[in-house]
Amino acid sequence: MFNHENLKGRVAVVTGGGGVLCGGFAKTLAAQGCKVAVLDLNEAAAQAVADEINANGGQAIAVGCNVLEPASMRAARDVIAEKLGTCDILLNGAGGNNPKGTTTKETLEKIDLAQQDPEVKTFFDLDPQGISFVFNLNFLGTLIPTQIFAKDMAEKGKGCIVMVTSMNAFRPLTKIPAYSAAKAAVKNFTEWMAVHFADMGIRVNAIAPGFFSTKQNATLLWNPDGTPTARTGKILAATPMDRFGEPEELAGTLLFLCDEAYSGFITGVNIPVDGGFNAYSGV
Ligand code: NAD
Repeated sequence: MFNHENLKGRVAVVTGGGGVLCGGFAKTLAAQGCKVAVLDLNEAAAQAVADEINANGGQAIAVGCNVLEPASMRAARDVIAEKLGTCDILLNGAGGNNPKGTTTKETLEKIDLAQQDPEVKTFFDLDPQGISFVFNLNFLGTLIPTQIFAKDMAEKGKGCIVMVTSMNAFRPLTKIPAYSAAKAAVKNFTEWMAVHFADMGIRVNAIAPGFFSTKQNATLLWNPDGTPTARTGKILAATPMDRFGEPEELAGTLLFLCDEAYSGFITGVNIPVDGGFNAYSGV
């Protein structure tokens, strides 16, 4: 399907690579001949992705690490440099929402002020630590790996960074204030870095996935019995193509952004891959 000769032999670092979307990104880059480092807090998940790549004739290593800890990322960088070489492509994918940063209802109602229902978490009940957890994972969790890996790119005078934002980067979604704010911040940060690194030969762009059914959004999309939540109905009604995306549908955009033969003059963009969600006003 793809043939990106330019990417052959490049070292690609994929954070969150043990997860659904970024595991797909890791496999896509490996299929083009990249040497892939699959980074994840969940080392076993990262190893499973690396094993699959190696079994299919690609080259990958798994590295257990935490994108929020600079020392952990420095250790990962050293392992990667020794086993594969220094980073050419950084995909900042680790992230996601968490129930700790989620309100129960979309909008506040008068009854919520009086009612002490422990099942209902209002905006006023949100724990700042839960908000920090989600915000930091998505924002600092992209800034810290970039500090570690972009230095090698700057020294080489060449590199490509791909961020993963969300529909929240354009307009906030209900219930998830920390995730919404963080992804808007990641879009802004993408633009900031594109400017900051422009003279260093490093391009920085983002992919904004629409709705894909994965682990990190499972509780918002599916009831415990496996039936779709009301939110799933609203998402599909607001997606003109009337379905969730499939992870492999992000692959073409990733390769386009990584291969300078296709996107060498593109930096600072945030591309929606969303079945039309972002374009649809609802009418
Ligand atoms: P996922 O939960 O399958 O993958 C996320 C991975 O990140 C997991 O493997 C997890 O272990 C890892 N991770 C979490 N915290 C980490 C840490 N501190 N250090 C290192 N690794 C850590 O989720 P996904 O849906 O594949 O999400 C991948 C990216 O895509 C995220 O940035 C997410 O916000 C974004 N995204 C997803 C959707 C969607 O619909 N699924 C939509 C828009 C954006």
